[in-house]
Amino acid sequence: FREIVTLDGPAGVGKTTMAKRLAGALGIPYLDTGAMYRVCGMRLGEEGATMPESAIMEVLRSIDFALEGSGAETKLLVDMHPVGAEIRTERVGMLASTVGTLAPVRAYCREAQQGLGRLTPLVAEGRDMGTVVFPDAAHKFFLDAEPEIRARRRLNQLKEMGTSDLPTLEDLAAQIAARDHQDRTRSEAPLKPAEDAVIIDTGELDVDGVFERLLQAIKA
Ligand code: C5P
Repeated sequence: FREIVTLDGPAGVGKTTMAKRLAGALGIPYLDTGAMYRVCGMRLGEEGATMPESAIMEVLRSIDFALEGSGAETKLLVDMHPVGAEIRTERVGMLASTVGTLAPVRAYCREAQQGLGRLTPLVAEGRDMGTVVFPDAAHKFFLDAEPEIRARRRLNQLKEMGTSDLPTLEDLAAQIAARDHQDRTRSEAPLKPAEDAVIIDTGELDVDGVFERLLQAIKA
């Protein structure tokens, strides 16, 4: 997996924005692995956490992930269809985080991600790209920012997407904090920087500033 760039970090830190931009600059696809966990969360539902392993596996086996296109236009396909906006709510984010604590779900997603990484160079963004899924990646980054800044950004994103039923900033901040806590403290593949990752505080920089830092490190 030498031609892989990994971007990890907590919710709302700007990973997807950067992954798209970097993929565009490098002329390769990006992989939104959070979307994969979100799809698993939706398919398994609230009962996923208490389902027997065999039932979980059966649901997972029916999910087929593929990539189409490249750069910022890359599409993640689920059963041949592009993933829809319905996975972007914070409710589905929390479902993703909860099913993401289950070993069979992590194994399924990891194998799917590594399978895609064998087919093409990637900018892979998520929580465990540099630590677990692509430990030999050519370039690893960990983006971080204060929780308050991340909640504000996520709210702006939801506004831009035209989401009806916008949460308040306080509620969103609390939801993101709960999700981050679950992601950082789970036993399998907890959210943390890889030892060899470059850590970037995106709270101090604007989008162009973060992008320049990434490109500089890749070209160095
Ligand atoms: O990045 P996004 O907010 O879409 O991710 C949703 C959830 O999926 C995360 O909170 C996390 O629990 C889970 N996830 C994960 N490993 C990844 C990507 C996402 O556990 N590589």
